[in-house]
Amino acid sequence: MSKVVKFGGSSLASAEQFKKVGDIIKADRERRYVVPSAPGKRFSDDIKVTDMLYSCYAAAAGEDAEKKMAAEMDGIKARYQEIIDGLGVKVSLADDFEKIGEDFLKQVGKDYAASRGEYLNGKIMAAYLGWDFIDSAEVIKFHENGEFDAAKTNDILKERLKESVHAVIPGFYGSLPDGTIKTFSRGGSDITGSIVARACKADVYENWTDVSGVLVADPRIIENPEPIETITYKELRELSYMGFSVLHEDAIFPVRTEGIPINIKNTNAPQDKGTWIVESTCQKSKYVITGVAGKKGFCSINIEKDMMNGEIGFGRKVLQAFEDNGISFEHMPSGIDTMTVFVHQDEFLHKEQQVVSAIHRMANPDNIDIEADLALVAVVGRGMKSARGTAGRIFSALAHANVNVKMIDQGSSELNIIIGVANDDFDTAIKAIYDIFVLSRI
Ligand code: ASP
Repeated sequence: MSKVVKFGGSSLASAEQFKKVGDIIKADRERRYVVPSAPGKRFSDDIKVTDMLYSCYAAAAGEDAEKKMAAEMDGIKARYQEIIDGLGVKVSLADDFEKIGEDFLKQVGKDYAASRGEYLNGKIMAAYLGWDFIDSAEVIKFHENGEFDAAKTNDILKERLKESVHAVIPGFYGSLPDGTIKTFSRGGSDITGSIVARACKADVYENWTDVSGVLVADPRIIENPEPIETITYKELRELSYMGFSVLHEDAIFPVRTEGIPINIKNTNAPQDKGTWIVESTCQKSKYVITGVAGKKGFCSINIEKDMMNGEIGFGRKVLQAFEDNGISFEHMPSGIDTMTVFVHQDEFLHKEQQVVSAIHRMANPDNIDIEADLALVAVVGRGMKSARGTAGRIFSALAHANVNVKMIDQGSSELNIIIGVANDDFDTAIKAIYDIFVLSRI
């Protein structure tokens, strides 16, 4: 059995955290490959090393570049030195910092700059554990156009991992065909962990962070929400899309191709079970719903036309107006003589009049109404398929909480119900739904 373990920035922000991570790794010999992030925040106002690197790189250009860069670099050096000293590990990053300084002044690339956070943390981690260090630039490959090259990476990485029983592979970056360093988007170490798990066909991909799993609802809205024990990839995708941010969205795909489960764990509470993210399961979720999430900032465009139902191609013409203006739509509930299109307000705002006139031109409707400042709430759960009355409970809870429902959309997969409410009712709606399913457990 082998496990790939990825540790997030908050788990590696200080020597104290590093020690916890070391204990976790050593507690289980099956934990064979470690993917570290760069040191994150030690306290809420702290700055992540990745962000320090971005600003140091920006300082390394223009007037007084060397001096400005050196000042910023000192802060970064201090972060790593604090970890090295606290661990008492014998490793020197002096040569690395010299090279990084030269490369920054040559302005070799922003991605290179950001990647050094993981690179240096990986070196410390390898020295601390006494494990091999594998530079991700050698094993994580991107196409020339910047897209991740999954097939090539898997071939190279699979072979390389066979040479190391235990190894540290820094997260977040890889390289382009010409050797230039390229990173994933922010939070991308999650993706590296998933890629490594796929390449060694791990039995589990453990993703260690600072919460005890994926929570049923956003803790900024619900005080101490319950963690989810088991969630399917599909459910997580729905919730991530609506704002759950425990795992990078793209981290699911590599492990999914091999059916490897992901276990989200808490470095500060390793005894907690955490959340299992799996392809499918017969484990019933504790509640009818698995999670509730949502986003503010939508607008609805309501289009009316008598006899719309009989006009073939009406919907296509309306959507063409959005497509021509480069606007993607979120939801599109419809009636016999109306259809409503939900879009992101910030995307739509500056194209509003072009879209409206394009709809008039293409589809010739009787009337168009726009409503702004709407929020969408997604109630997600594989259990909803077999439970009767879920929608009824949601809407009576919302009615009791005095929330006016503006839109309802349920996909035929019955995995989620999407509800449109006013932005101002957003928190109340989430609380009402959480209360009825989780606190009252009905
Ligand atoms: N260090 C990078 C970031 O802050 C990547 C990661 O932590 O996953 O986004």
